[in-house]
Amino acid sequence: MRKDENQPLIFEVSTKGRIGYSLPVLDVPEVELDDVLPADLIRSEEPELPEVAELDIMRHYTALSNRNHGVDSGFYPLGSCTMKYNPKINESVARFPGFADIHPLQDESTVQGAMELMYDLQEHLKEITGMDEVTLQPAAGAHGEWTGLMMIRAFHEANGDFERTKVIVPDSAHGTNPASATVAGFDTVTVKSDDNGLVDLEDLKRVVGPDTAALMLTNPNTLGLFEENILEMAAIIHEVGGKLYYDGANLNAVMNKARPGDMGFDVVHLNLHKTFTGPHGGGGPGSGPVGVKKGLLPYLPKPVLIKTDDGYTFDDNRPESIGRVKPYFGNFGINVRAYTYIRSMGPDGLKAVSEYAVLNANYMMRRLAPYFDLPYDRHCKHEFVLSGRRQKKLGVRTLDMAKRLLDFGYHPPTIYFPLNVEEGMMIEPTETESKETLDAFCDAMIQIAKEAETNPEIVQEAPHTTVISRLDEAQAARKPVLRYQKAE
Ligand SMILES: *Cc1c(COP(=O)(O)O)cnc(C)c1O
Repeated sequence: MRKDENQPLIFEVSTKGRIGYSLPVLDVPEVELDDVLPADLIRSEEPELPEVAELDIMRHYTALSNRNHGVDSGFYPLGSCTMKYNPKINESVARFPGFADIHPLQDESTVQGAMELMYDLQEHLKEITGMDEVTLQPAAGAHGEWTGLMMIRAFHEANGDFERTKVIVPDSAHGTNPASATVAGFDTVTVKSDDNGLVDLEDLKRVVGPDTAALMLTNPNTLGLFEENILEMAAIIHEVGGKLYYDGANLNAVMNKARPGDMGFDVVHLNLHKTFTGPHGGGGPGSGPVGVKKGLLPYLPKPVLIKTDDGYTFDDNRPESIGRVKPYFGNFGINVRAYTYIRSMGPDGLKAVSEYAVLNANYMMRRLAPYFDLPYDRHCKHEFVLSGRRQKKLGVRTLDMAKRLLDFGYHPPTIYFPLNVEEGMMIEPTETESKETLDAFCDAMIQIAKEAETNPEIVQEAPHTTVISRLDEAQAARKPVLRYQKAE
């Protein structure tokens, strides 16, 4: 399997003077660097760059890409991340010259088609979420959370309500929720989950009060369970004057089945790069549109895209707006992909997505339940959480099992999350996988569970077939390699 074990570093194949590029002849006057840049910004030595031929650089990147794992190369059940197949028609449409070759500073009259697409996408998302208005500006889910909370803050402050400093977040929430609340200037209060994995209503009643700004809720929650008491929770929060924030990053389970707007939510963000098939991983680009109910309309980020008798225009005259949250108008290319997806699926297609996502997750959960601990033994939505408690007693940890999955060619599920599950594994198959793929993955998981009993070392020492075995998970963040140094 280690087919590229002997792959040299690009610096090692570098040969002085060898070039792999061909630039067109210069057709503008040449400029001296010191005519355009301050002297102290100009490097005194040439950068140490590898010098290789075009074929060598091609092989270099092809070899690197083969080491990578993506949805297009293999099953990727990373819970909460919705690593589903991104249809290639999205890419074709995003590359239309009328979308790909326009500039955000172009006159509005020359980009009416692009603006129409943005407007229509907003309309579709309003319909899907049941909200009154949608902004496409936020660049990711967490950015949408922050944008939504800033609007909630602006709303309370406009009412002279400066004492609402607390945002309530369940203990099963995605980590970005408390982080966004903190960045938006709130204190977070944790509310417990009950034995069924749902928000504990008694605990919720205990923590709400006149200082409650909002409750942030993921539904289905990160245990993959639908919050059945959602209407009661909405009533509890609204009664004390708080707002309800819906983390809709995981809409994959409820799309065209249930709408946050109908459940009483005031703000919702979506992750177009998850549910609506924007390619993601490696840090973006994403798109995290935010929908709001009527009471929050004045605070939407500006400019707001509106439709007039003369066409589409960006309205900047919004005195109560929280301001612009992203240069220009959001990650347009990702929005084009989401629009293409919504139009090619249609309402029935989107509903079928949710049904198959839920079916696939329940199928896998039942196949795996005899071999692992199932902390919440109830119908799941798009994902489910197993516990590796049983294997831990045998000396095999969830981390070991995740590493062992690499030997079978799978990306591991999300592990050690949510935090309230011991040795957790959060598995999200998505609707785009066939039964055969689900079965093959379950077979691998079952084999690993058996290995934990009969041959624990093989799991504890995994992976055995990858280019590099266990990495120090934190070192790359703590000590980034900034410069290649040739071995002496
Ligand atoms: C992915 C996710 C987020 C964060 O989205 P980003 O685009 O990564 O910022 C927030 N909440 C939930 C439930 C998620 O799954």
